[in-house]
Amino acid sequence: MNGWTGKVLRVNLTEGSVAIQDLDLETVSLVMGGRGLGVKILCDEIDPKANALEAHNKLIFATGPLTGTGAIASALCSVTTKSPLTGGIACASVLGNFGAELKFSGFDAIIIEGKSKFPVYLSIMDDKVRLLPALHLWGRTTTYTEKLIKAEMGDLWKAREMCIVSIGPAGEKIANIASLVHEDFMAFGGSGLGAVMGTKNLKAVAVRGTKGVKVAHGNRFLLNTSHLLKRIEKDPLISEKVRNLGTTFLVETLHQMGFLPSKNFQAAVFNGIKNVDSQALARSILCGHRSCLACPMACLKTTETKKPPFDGKGTGLDYNTIAMLGPNLGIDHLLAIAKAYYLCVQLGIDPISVGAAIATATELYEKGILSELDAGQSFRFGKSENLIPLINLIGEGNGFGCILGTGAFRIAKDYEHMESFMGAKGRELPPYDPRGIQGMGLHFATSNSGAYHLDGFTVIDEVLGIHGEPHPLETEGKAWKVKLFQDLTAVLNAMGICPLSLMCIWIDDMVTMVNDVLETHYEVDDILKIGERIWNLERLFNIKAGFTGADDTLSERLLSEPIPDGPAKGSILHLDKLLPEYYRLRGWNEQGIPTEEKLKDLGL
Ligand code: SF4
Repeated sequence: MNGWTGKVLRVNLTEGSVAIQDLDLETVSLVMGGRGLGVKILCDEIDPKANALEAHNKLIFATGPLTGTGAIASALCSVTTKSPLTGGIACASVLGNFGAELKFSGFDAIIIEGKSKFPVYLSIMDDKVRLLPALHLWGRTTTYTEKLIKAEMGDLWKAREMCIVSIGPAGEKIANIASLVHEDFMAFGGSGLGAVMGTKNLKAVAVRGTKGVKVAHGNRFLLNTSHLLKRIEKDPLISEKVRNLGTTFLVETLHQMGFLPSKNFQAAVFNGIKNVDSQALARSILCGHRSCLACPMACLKTTETKKPPFDGKGTGLDYNTIAMLGPNLGIDHLLAIAKAYYLCVQLGIDPISVGAAIATATELYEKGILSELDAGQSFRFGKSENLIPLINLIGEGNGFGCILGTGAFRIAKDYEHMESFMGAKGRELPPYDPRGIQGMGLHFATSNSGAYHLDGFTVIDEVLGIHGEPHPLETEGKAWKVKLFQDLTAVLNAMGICPLSLMCIWIDDMVTMVNDVLETHYEVDDILKIGERIWNLERLFNIKAGFTGADDTLSERLLSEPIPDGPAKGSILHLDKLLPEYYRLRGWNEQGIPTEEKLKDLGL
C-alpha cells in the first residue's frame, strides 16, 4: 500500500493485550493520518467529558503517509490525547526518527488504552510486540531509561536503531506539565501528555523496524525532492540562520521588535538580552547540530556547559526555552538556562510550562500574594539560583514543586489571582507577545490546544516576512492568515511533516510530495479542506468537552494592558475586531459553533 503499512496496533494496558487491526482507509481519505487520524480516533472512542487522567483516556501515536518516505522533514509522529492541562484536545509532535521507525516496524499507528496495574514499557520489534515490566525504569531519567532499554536489547547494532519515547519522573508523578522525551530532546507541544502516559503506568514506547514504506512514483518523488533540496540550500534563512543557530536567532529578532516577553509579560525590554541571544549561545555553549530524519533544516542545536554547577550537555535548546526560562523570568544567565533545560529533558517537563509556572509564582510572590511560608522559599525575577532547585522539586513532586507542576493556570486560580496567568484555555503562552503579533494573538485565542504556537505559527509571515513584508501590528487580512496557517499546519501534521518546515516549504510542495507518494490527484484546495476538517473535528471535541466561544480569549493583561515599553510600546491585541471575522471565515456562528452547513460541507 503506498505511503502506509495498512496496520494499526491496539494495546490494552488493563488487560495486557495487543491486537492488530487494519488501517481504516475511509478515515484516512477524510483526515489523511497523523494528527488527523489521532483526533478522529479520539472523537470516535472516548467521551470528551471524561477525566484526562483516568484509564478511559487514550493515547494515539500516529504517523502520516509521508513519515519515513524521505520526503522533506517527514519525521513527525503525532501523539493525540485529552489534555489534563486544558481539558481539551492535545496533540504533541514526536520528531527525530521515531515515526519512521514505527512505520518500518509495520504499523501506521498505535492506540494505547486502559491502565496497567504496574509500570510497563511497550516494545515493538517488527512483528514482535510485547508489554515488558518497567519497575526498574520507574523513577529514572529519560536518558537513563533509553540507555537501559537499549541495553536490554542485547544486540548493540539493533539497539542503535531502536527509537524510544519515554516519560521522566515528572510524568510518573502526574505533573500536569510533564512531557514526552525522545532521543534526549522534548516532543513539541507538551500539554501534559507525560502525565497521561504516567497515569497509565506506561514508562516508554520502544520501536525498531526493518521494513520499508512504498512510494507510488519513486523516480518522480526523488526528482521533486532533489529540486526542493536545492531550493532550500539557497534559502538564506535556512542556510545562514536556522542551520547555524536553530530558532535561537528569534531571541534578538523578537526583542528588537518588542515582542519578547519579560517578567511574566510585564515588560518587553530586557537589559540582559545580549547575554542570552544567539550570538552569546554561539560564542559560549553551541557545540553541534542535529537533524531529524530527512530534514535539511537541522534546527536542533547541541550545547555543552562545562562550568559546575551548570555542567551538562543536551540537544534542542531553542528560542522558546531561552525566552521562557530566561527573559520571562528576568534571568540573563545562559549557563543556568541551559542547565535548566537539560534538567527539564531528564525529568520530562515542558520548559515553556515550567517558565510560565515559575513566572506566575514569582509575580504572586513579588506582589505579596504568595508568602515564603507557603512556597518554602523566596521568589524574585532575575534570581537564576532558584531555577535548578525548583525544576528538581517539580520532577520529584516535592514541596512547592507539586504546586508548580500543576501549571501556571492552576497556581493563579488557587491563589485567586487570575491576572498572573498568561495563556489561553488553561495553557501557558509561549514567548510571542500577542499584543504585538496580532495574528499570533488571534491564533492563541482560538487554538484548539490552548496557547500552542506551532498549530498556527504566523510568526513565519508576520515577523520573518517569508511571503512578503513583515506586518505584525496590522489586523487587516489576519483572520484569513490565521485560518490558513491553522488548516495548513493541521494537514501538514497529518501528512507526517514537521510544522517548522513551513519556513522553507509551502502548500504546493506539500501537494506534490503527497501525490507522488500516494498516487493521488490532490490539489491545493483539497489539501486545505482536509486541514479544515481536522481543525473542525478538534473544535467539536472541545465543544463536547465543555468549551464555548467564551474560551476563545486570552488572559486579561494581554487584552487590557498595552505593551508597557520597548519598540512596540502601546500595542494592544484587537481581538474584538479579529474574532468575528475569524468565525465568519470559518463558517461558524457568532458563538463560535460550526454551523450545520459547514459540517455538511466538510463531510462531518
Ligand atoms: S525542522 Fe528541526 S525539529 Fe523539524 S524535522 Fe527539521 S530538524 Fe527536526
